[in-house]
Amino acid sequence: MLISSSVMANKEKLDQPSHKEEGSPAEPRRYLVNVDSISTNQLFTDCLVIGAGIAGLRAAIEATDPRSNRGCNVIIVCKGTIQDSNTWQAQGGIASVLDKEDSFESHTADTLTTGCGISNKKIVESVVRQGPELIKQLLQWGATFDLIDGHIAMTLEGGHSRPRIAHAHGDETGRVIAETLIEKVRQNPNIKVIENFFAIDLLTEDNKCTGIIGYDKHRGLQIIWSADIILATGGAGQLYRETTNPETATGDGIAMTYRAGAILRDLEFVQFHPTTLYVAGASRALITETLRGEGAVLLDSNGRRFMKEYHEAAELAPRDVVSRAILAQMLKTGSTHVYLDVRHFDKAYFTKRFPMISELCESFNIDVSRNLIPVRPSAHYMIGGVNTDMKAATSIKNLYACGEAASTGLHGANRLGSNSLLEGLVFGKIAGQNVSQGTKTTAAHIRRSPIRYRIPHSDRTRLDTADVRNSLRALMWRNVGITRKAQPLKEAEEIIRFWQRYVMDKVFDSPAGWECQNMLTVSLLIIRAALERAESRGVHFRSDFPETDDEHFKKHIEILKGV
Ligand SMILES: Cc1cc2nc3c(=O)[nH]c(=O)nc-3n(C[C@H](O)[C@H](O)[C@H](O)COP(=O)(O)OP(=O)(O)OC[C@H]3O[C@@H](n4cnc5c(N)ncnc54)[C@H](O)[C@@H]3O)c2cc1C
Repeated sequence: MLISSSVMANKEKLDQPSHKEEGSPAEPRRYLVNVDSISTNQLFTDCLVIGAGIAGLRAAIEATDPRSNRGCNVIIVCKGTIQDSNTWQAQGGIASVLDKEDSFESHTADTLTTGCGISNKKIVESVVRQGPELIKQLLQWGATFDLIDGHIAMTLEGGHSRPRIAHAHGDETGRVIAETLIEKVRQNPNIKVIENFFAIDLLTEDNKCTGIIGYDKHRGLQIIWSADIILATGGAGQLYRETTNPETATGDGIAMTYRAGAILRDLEFVQFHPTTLYVAGASRALITETLRGEGAVLLDSNGRRFMKEYHEAAELAPRDVVSRAILAQMLKTGSTHVYLDVRHFDKAYFTKRFPMISELCESFNIDVSRNLIPVRPSAHYMIGGVNTDMKAATSIKNLYACGEAASTGLHGANRLGSNSLLEGLVFGKIAGQNVSQGTKTTAAHIRRSPIRYRIPHSDRTRLDTADVRNSLRALMWRNVGITRKAQPLKEAEEIIRFWQRYVMDKVFDSPAGWECQNMLTVSLLIIRAALERAESRGVHFRSDFPETDDEHFKKHIEILKGV
């Protein structure tokens, strides 16, 4: 593993690496499975999109744009059903300048402030400016955003200086956007969706991506050759015991691009959401930030409101501040959680405005007009990812990345609430556009030397991957969580390297094994980046280096597989 830190010389420009680290003996091998491109089932397409969240769906639609040079045929693969994505779960909304009182300058300034000095200003400006048009397009395609007096209703979230969050069906914004895009995709004869297809590895030749090897639930191993590949595999919340993310979010895209030799960036920045439901046995369902935007307050186990002691914006402080404050207050009071108080809301309004949360609370016998909602922070969003440029291009030719899997430079060291759906929409479009406007290479023209890759047989015993996965998630939560410190980070690194020794040399034949290998790989990369960043910035808080150190760390941390 080679880590290099790229200095923010004049904010957008990346300098030469300033630090190198020698490769580790536990590097994953190039492919997780044996590859034989002659005897494996094969498909061909002009553009392959891996992932069917907001970024992948939007990219696919754009790649088939009939006005473009190429008029591509697109295959979208997703590892579960088309509904299994972070996008489908998104509640609060999508941030954009849709109100006359608001301005691009203000949204840009809020995003840059939250990013703590390492966002890419050009990217921020470009994303913010493209937002309104793309949201209006969603409306034209049938998305039913909530309206007030015929205009899109806007709400406030922490870190935004004005109400700027558009929402749909109350707190079901992600589902409404996903359904709109899925419908558009279904109507498009040039897009084919393959569900239950697990992308295992990117195939490359001379630093050019030519396709993937994957596993189709019904057909087994399969190769898909493609002139262009768009990676939109989403985040990695499942690396942590406590997470808002669905089971699909195991960081596969990050791990496979690492194995393929792409540059990854800013992996130390994992955002924790301050308020997820804390009821034993329940999944950590998110309780959207817009609740606090609309007046919900946080109380500790003694019933005291405490946020004002930590930040002047109280409950509307940035997410990292609220998450750390909750953790500190839990420690102070010896409690496992704090509470959200919405008892002062009008119950009928609450049920209409937050239908998903109402139903969730009711299912645990929490009557929000009388009871407090128990909450604690959980891993929520992967800020780092595959390094991309303004065109969503990665460091590997013909490979684009967008959405949560990418590191575009929009979020810097912290993500402003509701900016991720926006980023997926904008960069999905950009990735698709660049594919559709690219040179007229089609599936038939991809140069393909046969690939044969054989992995030596491992005599190691059978593995319980579910046990490794659970142990890893607990370790990551304990040692690589909201606050970090050198010693626990190093301890986690050592333990994961030990697990890697016997997990990584196995050849698995189903997604559970590949996910486990990917999760170990990405966890280790996060730890290495977290150790390297010996300062506190945005969501990365080092209790042994609690200050921000601009002199040494106003820069990105890039990771490239040691070759
Ligand atoms: C509970 C929750 C609430 C949120 N609320 C908001 C909000 O209000 N506003 C906001 O802006 N953001 C919100 N977010 C974040 C936002 O939803 C995500 O960042 C965004 O939807 C990511 O979109 P994406 O297209 O990049 O990835 P996803 O939507 O996660 O889609 C990833 C796709 O990749 C596929 N995939 C992954 N690995 C593989 C593989 N190996 N092979 C094949 N397919 C694969 C998955 O099956 C899936 O189809 C929320 C997130 C969660 C979890």
